[in-house]
Amino acid sequence: MTSTPATDRRVRLLGEPVDSYPDRAPEAARGRVLRITEVGEEVLHRPCRTVEEYGTPELARLVDDMFATMYAAAGVGLAANQADVDLRLFVYDCKDDDGVRHVGHLVNPVLDPPTEDRRLADATEGCLSVPGPRRELGRPERTVARGTDIHGRPLVLEGTGYFARCLQHETDHLNGMLYIDRLGKRDRRAVLAEMAEQREQVLAARVTRAEQLGLPQV
Ligand code: ZN
Repeated sequence: MTSTPATDRRVRLLGEPVDSYPDRAPEAARGRVLRITEVGEEVLHRPCRTVEEYGTPELARLVDDMFATMYAAAGVGLAANQADVDLRLFVYDCKDDDGVRHVGHLVNPVLDPPTEDRRLADATEGCLSVPGPRRELGRPERTVARGTDIHGRPLVLEGTGYFARCLQHETDHLNGMLYIDRLGKRDRRAVLAEMAEQREQVLAARVTRAEQLGLPQV
């Protein structure tokens, strides 16, 4: 990921434009780096539970930990079941194709149904739970995700380009689906073979990055 000069930065925090924002969400500084679950682990392959209790210290702590975990892995989004927690929420820090940076979290996300004139965009996609490989995958180029913040306040996130992809990828996770489940059988097998080769190196790089960022690891 390339960095943008601070003066040229456009940021949307929880869907709302803000004038400036730090390089990393402040939640990360309070968080711990958790182990990221991997393809094959049960928690990734079934729908997560709806969040019913808002505003709890546990939920705030989870968001802190998920931001720290995502940054240590150099990811742009992370779903709770990737942190081994069976709840419907994700965090994100992702630029769209217009260079706008989107940061925040979303609880109990639901995507608007696709419109009839929806257009698919192709781009390469990877997943922190399938460490290493990436593949090209077509997805709708716009999406709207509705949910709440951790205090239960309604949020609407509109995404285009790569951020639309991120919203779809993370919501898929919470429904028990990985991006490789959207690939053909042969391609899926090839991705898993590449992961087996690259996994160890990718996990080692995450440990190094967490140390560089000064994030405590569980
Ligand atoms: Zn993923």
